[in-house]
Amino acid sequence: MAESLWTVLRDLKRVRRGGIEEIAARQRSRLAELVAHARANSPYYRELYHALPERVTDTTTLPITTKAELMDRFGDWVTDRAITLDAVREFIEDDENAGTPFLGSYLVVTTSGTSGERGVFIQDDRMFNVLSAITVGRATGQFLRGRHDYWGMVSNGGRTAALWATGGHFAGYATARRLMLQRPSRRRKIRIISIHHPLERIVAELNEFRPGILNGYASAIALAAREREAGRLNIAPVLVITAAEGLPPEEYPRIAEAFGAKVRNQYACAEFMGLANGCGENWLHVNADWVILEPVDAKFRPVPPGERSHTVLLTNLANRVQPIIRYDLGDSITVRPDPCPCGSPLPAIQVQGRTSDVLVFTAENGREVRLPPLALGTLVDRTPGVSRFQIVQDQPTRLRVRLEPSGDRDDGQVWSAVRGAITDLLAEHGVRDVEVTRDGEPPSRSAGGKFRPVYSELAG
Ligand SMILES: [Zn+2]
Repeated sequence: MAESLWTVLRDLKRVRRGGIEEIAARQRSRLAELVAHARANSPYYRELYHALPERVTDTTTLPITTKAELMDRFGDWVTDRAITLDAVREFIEDDENAGTPFLGSYLVVTTSGTSGERGVFIQDDRMFNVLSAITVGRATGQFLRGRHDYWGMVSNGGRTAALWATGGHFAGYATARRLMLQRPSRRRKIRIISIHHPLERIVAELNEFRPGILNGYASAIALAAREREAGRLNIAPVLVITAAEGLPPEEYPRIAEAFGAKVRNQYACAEFMGLANGCGENWLHVNADWVILEPVDAKFRPVPPGERSHTVLLTNLANRVQPIIRYDLGDSITVRPDPCPCGSPLPAIQVQGRTSDVLVFTAENGREVRLPPLALGTLVDRTPGVSRFQIVQDQPTRLRVRLEPSGDRDDGQVWSAVRGAITDLLAEHGVRDVEVTRDGEPPSRSAGGKFRPVYSELAG
């Protein structure tokens, strides 16, 4: 049976009191249950784990999984036989379905993530309860402290604004929609502002809504901070939460100063939306009672604390409908070797290689237009029929698009939809002279070995 929100909240408290040992105990028992469930209900895992002992409490004995392989075996991967890839695809083709229950209760989110390959993730009620509990019981308590924060939230009416990609089934957007569908009165407290809009419109919406918490993709928040510095944006949030990507380190104090607010980072992905929350010491604390992150080298051997990993293996201990176990996430992390001075018993990490450059264009009127990379990436990501993509700005007025449509789609149609979406977005921002060309090369990794879905060769 799925844990209720209250059961999970109570358990978070016990884990806080119990510290490291309690966290390790949760990992062992939850992993054993997850593996047993996956073997009993997922034909894919039954096959993959056929030679393993009956009870598994340690991830290191398990084989590694990848997004490409899991997506390829989608129908066998899920543990609910009513779910088929065709049914999910039909569901996600309609943007209006974002956040609405799929097959009764599931939340569906899609992402190309840091690997550029499109994944479709289905979350059950238990997952949703765990994420809600982590947000309410752990992150908010960690972020908002003291009288100043309290009065700051009160004076802003307790409102949260989020700068996210909309119009698709992206994690942040779909989750916020689900929360508002569950309780329509939340619409007064939560506002999602699309990063696809021109900056003037984003500024106007923020000025009108006056959030106490400003949440969003880090690159979009950095652009908003510039607007605050220029005096066009007039909000006074107490807390700014940056997510999904990293910024150059000097950008964080700059954002804090621009808003006169606390800035906290959040580490999230569609595979587990509440991986870690930032503390005042600038470390990210992993919600290790509900997720296992194993830093490994290129040959998937463990990397000790203090050393930067090549990739990280993720095991989601909450979601049962689509088990994600020892999954190659692609991020490079470093685990803090000693206890964090902030006092949190949760393991502290830093994430590298998610840094993304803002793309810069010139509008018809000569003005500079700065676009967060995710504004372009999410647009392509939500185009039906896209399997993998990469967008490269190689000249001030040229974007090269590397595209791999999914096998069952007409290549020409997918390309024309992608090209149209990018051209429309640029036009909406007053940029009309950019050539959007198809690059025959497949999406590829950069010299550093990391894949970046959107980047500029002009930056830096
Ligand atoms: Zn800390």
